[in-house]
Amino acid sequence: MVKLDVTQLRYLSNEEFRVLVAIEMGMKNHHLVPTPLVERVAALRHGGVRKFLDNLLRLKLIHHDAKKYDGYYLNYPGYDYLALKTFMKRGHLSGVGRQIGVGKESDIYCACNEEGDEIVIKFHRLGRTSFRTVKHNRDYLKGRKASNWLYLSRLSALKEFAFMKALHSVGINTPTPIDCNRHGVLMDLIKGYPLYQVKEIAHPRRVMRKCLDIIVNLAEYGLIHGDFNEFNLLVVEKEEMEGGVIEIDIVVIDFPQMVSTSHENADFYFDRDVECIHEFFGKRFAASIDYRPKLSDIQKTNDLDVEVEASGFSKEMAKEFERLLKEENEANQDDEDDEDEDQADQDQDDTFDESKFESNITEEEFEKSADQVTNNHDNDDHEETA
Ligand code: ADP
Ligand code: MG
Repeated sequence: MVKLDVTQLRYLSNEEFRVLVAIEMGMKNHHLVPTPLVERVAALRHGGVRKFLDNLLRLKLIHHDAKKYDGYYLNYPGYDYLALKTFMKRGHLSGVGRQIGVGKESDIYCACNEEGDEIVIKFHRLGRTSFRTVKHNRDYLKGRKASNWLYLSRLSALKEFAFMKALHSVGINTPTPIDCNRHGVLMDLIKGYPLYQVKEIAHPRRVMRKCLDIIVNLAEYGLIHGDFNEFNLLVVEKEEMEGGVIEIDIVVIDFPQMVSTSHENADFYFDRDVECIHEFFGKRFAASIDYRPKLSDIQKTNDLDVEVEASGFSKEMAKEFERLLKEENEANQDDEDDEDEDQADQDQDDTFDESKFESNITEEEFEKSADQVTNNHDNDDHEETA
C-alpha cells in the first residue's frame, strides 16, 4: 500500500526536490538512474547529492538498487510528492486529508484548496502490484524509452482529465475538473454516495432511466464510458423537492477507459454499459424498464474529440496509451512463463554503461520541471501577480 504522509512535504528542501526531479527525468531513459546522472542533472550548486539521496531514501520516496550499479528510481510516493508540490505551487491545493477510495489502480484522497473548499485528488497507480519487481519492467529491459508504470499512470491521468473537462464543458454531470499533473487529477468533491452503497431509493425506475439516458447522451457526443457501473456513478440528493420527491442527480466518474463510438468494438462496450445498469437495478431494486438503447439508433450530434485534444490528450497519446497498456498486460502474462529468459535479458542490460546514460535532457527542460515543484524562482511570482 502506498502511504502518503504530506507532513513531510513541507520539510523537504528545494535541493531534495531538485534531486527528485532529476531522478524523474533520468527515468525517461533509465529504469535505474545512475547516481552520477542524478548528480549531473540536479546540478546542485553546493553538491552533496548523497545526503539528499539518503534522506529521500529514508522517506521511501525513492528506491535504491546496487546490484549492477548504484542507481535510483522514484517510488509512487516520490511521484506523489512532485505532483502535490506542483498543485500547491499553482495555487490549487493547500492540504491533503484522509483517503476516501482505493481502487485497483488508483488512490483517492480528500483535500482542500486555498479557499478551504473540499476537493479530491485521484492518483493513478497503474501496475502498482508489479511496480516493485524489475522483471515486469520489460520495456526497460528491451531498451525502450519511457515505458514504465509512472508513464502509463501519467497518461491515464491525462486522459481522465481531458475527458472530464470535455464532458463537463458540455454539461454532462461529472466532478468539476481542476488540475492535472503527472499521475494526479484534482477535481471537486461530490457530496453523495456511490450507487453501490445505496440500499433504498424512492423511484428506482426513474433513476435507472436517468443512467441509461446518460449512456445515450455520451454516445451522442461520440463517446462510450466503458465502465459504467454502480461504482462509477455517484448519487447526489438535490435539495429542492418536487411534489414531495427528492430529486436525484447522477454524477459520472472514472474515465481512463473511455472509447470513441467509432472504436472497432464500440457496440460491445456500449451494450455492456447498458447491461450493467439493467443488471444492477434488477438485482438491487427489482426494477426493470423496457428500454435497451442501441448504439446504431443513436444520432451522433457532436464530436468531443476536438475538446479532448484541446485539453491535452492527443490522438497519438491515446494510441500510445492503448498500445502500452496492451503490451504491459501481455508482458505480465508472459512473465509467469519465462522468468529465466528475463534474467538473461537483465544480466545483459542492467550493467552500467556510461554512453547509455548520456542524457538527452536539456538544461532548459530540467529547469522547467524543477520550477514546477520548487519555489525558489522569483520569475514565477512575477508571472502570477502580473
Ligand atoms: P478507480 O479508477 O480506482 O475505480 P474512481 O475514480 O472510480 O477510481 O474512484 C474510486 C472511488 O472514489 C469512487 O467509487 C468514489 O467513491 C470515490 N470518488 C472518486 N472521485 C470522487 C469525487 N470527485 N467525489 C467524491 N468521491 C469520489
Ligand atoms: Mg471506479
